[in-house]
Amino acid sequence: MAFETLSERLQSALKNVTRKGKLTEKDVDVMMREVRLALLEADVNIKVVREFIKEVKEKAIGETVLKSLTPGQQVIKIVNEELTKLMGDEAEYLNFGTSKPAVFMMVGLQGAGKTTHTGKLSTYLRKKDKKNPLLVACDVYRPAAVDQLKTIGKQLNIPVFEKGTSMNPVDIAAEAIAYAKENGHDLVIIDTAGRLHIDESLMNELKEIKALVKPQEILLVVDAMTGQDAVNVAESFHQQLDLTGVILTKLDGDTRGGAALSIRKMTNVPIKFMGMGEKLDTLEVFHPERMASRILGMGDVMTLIERAQENFDEEESMKLADKMMNATYDFNDFLKQMKQMKRLGAFEDILKMIPGVGNQLKDINIDPKQMARVEAIIYSMTEQERKNPDLINASRKNRIAKGCGCDLAEVNRLIKQFTDMRKMMKRFSNMDPRQMERMAAAMQR
Ligand code: GDP
Repeated sequence: MAFETLSERLQSALKNVTRKGKLTEKDVDVMMREVRLALLEADVNIKVVREFIKEVKEKAIGETVLKSLTPGQQVIKIVNEELTKLMGDEAEYLNFGTSKPAVFMMVGLQGAGKTTHTGKLSTYLRKKDKKNPLLVACDVYRPAAVDQLKTIGKQLNIPVFEKGTSMNPVDIAAEAIAYAKENGHDLVIIDTAGRLHIDESLMNELKEIKALVKPQEILLVVDAMTGQDAVNVAESFHQQLDLTGVILTKLDGDTRGGAALSIRKMTNVPIKFMGMGEKLDTLEVFHPERMASRILGMGDVMTLIERAQENFDEEESMKLADKMMNATYDFNDFLKQMKQMKRLGAFEDILKMIPGVGNQLKDINIDPKQMARVEAIIYSMTEQERKNPDLINASRKNRIAKGCGCDLAEVNRLIKQFTDMRKMMKRFSNMDPRQMERMAAAMQR
């Protein structure tokens, strides 16, 4: 998970002040010294750190905060707001403009994730904005780059316009736009060439493409793992090309946070998206306020709800709830639910979005292999057994264990847990509503 160390250090710095009923200027000073170190260690730009500390301090030692009844909470609120501000306040979305097709240019250094994110963005926009995108392979210097984009296009079933590696990229871009117009594509995403370092000929080529295609968006793809280098790269590209946004990639790794916390402030270019993995469905809108909450261990309920809405079919969920209430819930339903949960993402990541859970989860590892074993046991049952778990007697259990290569004990455990769960569902469904209310109230106490 990204920002783990930063997150821990900030939370520990803040914990000291939340414990206190009264705060002095000195307490704030001590806390801010720790915050400063945490940010510097996370590779946040020194200018950004200085300004951040100054802002928070000024606000935190104000009369109203120090004299309030909950000074610690107020300080956390200030840190949260300032972190959010640092990353740009509100999420900024893409501008499609009015011309057809809209044209987006993807730029960046080699290895940052440009080609992967050309694919990710196209499938994201096809789903979210109902776009009909065309991808364009303009990285003609690396034959592998053209092939990579073709492979991605095939995987996503999104067409790729390519002319191999012998044509000039500016001409390819021009032909691609004419092709898009003729073929009803309302969005063209151009994957441009990358280099290991910024060089003049690359910039000139990008400027030429820009002048020709007049893109609505020029998105710089940068690797978050490169910390302050990412900021330098962003500054250079912005000077030359007037970027409209940044896509920060590899935030699924253990990035320290420097890039995410410095880029916006240093360049004034908004971070629009973040890449969260190698797979093509791991692109998320960058929400500064949610990111700040995640860093401070306050969870991210909004993202959790959105992911659930995207992945759970409402009708299907209602059907399952009905089955639970009527106690007709069977192993097939259980499998379905497990699949839905898997689509939400790694369990640890989901749990961390729940406020208050993040910090306690540090050492817990939820083993995806365990889930795979549960699935294997269920797949080893016959359809009849899945529908009617009461059928499963000792000899059937033996057969199931052999079928999936698990211990009999594991099969027994799963079936017992499942039967207990069904019993509980039955009890709930027979309960009168007043009894349920009493129980819910007791659980909240
Ligand atoms: P390009 O040279 O900028 O086009 O970079 P590529 O798209 O070829 O990506 C370089 C490498 O980074 C590939 O191995 C990708 O799978 C990987 N990659 C890209 N985006 C992400 C991301 O968000 N997370 C992780 N973990 N890997 C990524």
